[in-house]
Amino acid sequence: MIKVENLKKSFGDIQVLKGVDIEIQKGEVVAVIGPSGTGKSTLLRCMNYLETPDAGVISIGDLTVYAKSAAKNDIHELRKRTSMVFQSYNLFKNKTALQNITESLTAVKKIPREEADKIGMKILQQVGLEDKRDSYPSQLSGGQQQRIGIGRAMAVNPDIILFDEPTSALDPELVGEVLDVIKELAKKHMTMIIVTHEMGFAREAADRVIFMDGGYIVEQGRPEEIFEKPKNERTAKFLSKVS
Ligand code: ATP
Ligand code: MG
Repeated sequence: MIKVENLKKSFGDIQVLKGVDIEIQKGEVVAVIGPSGTGKSTLLRCMNYLETPDAGVISIGDLTVYAKSAAKNDIHELRKRTSMVFQSYNLFKNKTALQNITESLTAVKKIPREEADKIGMKILQQVGLEDKRDSYPSQLSGGQQQRIGIGRAMAVNPDIILFDEPTSALDPELVGEVLDVIKELAKKHMTMIIVTHEMGFAREAADRVIFMDGGYIVEQGRPEEIFEKPKNERTAKFLSKVS
């Protein structure tokens, strides 16, 4: 199980996360929605210490990281257990599709090249890009690059994958192929948090939807509860604007 307790983060005078609590079961798919600037990205970034939270506790399985007294080793371990997928792919431009996926295996986990390539090819198959193994990012479409981005996140076998608007940089016709890859992962019970503006996708693929506003979780529930009978006025107002 993954647990976030009382997570807080300020930038200068602005408190962006005001005490966020989340519990995620193994295999659960959680969609996070909410207005721009509410702290959705900050939440994900704090969960794998791309940003250092000011307060709070993050636990993943037997690992517990206290914001105030986080040891370097624990942060390192937390990063290994959480993978991020970014809006802008962030692929290595001078590495092929396969090398992008295997980089963390060979460089960080020190897995021999041949074995890493085997794992990498299996992942390329899962994201439907076996035939692109030797292509560089510049030779791939945005949708293909993002599927490689997801493959790279999968490679380290994380406990959870954190997606930050994985389709929002894509042309509309490329969104579907990326969402399909995420849906396949959901079917395989990969634990995931997905910040998304794709309400249809959240409804279809998520087990639970969290609505964030103003640095808090305002409301959460099953997709049909949130989308059909939101209890909070702010949730209803947000949904009426985006749906
Ligand atoms: P969006 O839907 O537009 O992606 P978001 O909910 O992901 O929005 P965040 O990116 O988490 O929002 O930003 C929340 C607030 O924190 C914003 O006001 C933003 O300007 C501020 N912020 C985020 N990162 C930083 C930073 N590194 N330094 C200063 N302020 C930041
Ligand atoms: Mg964001």
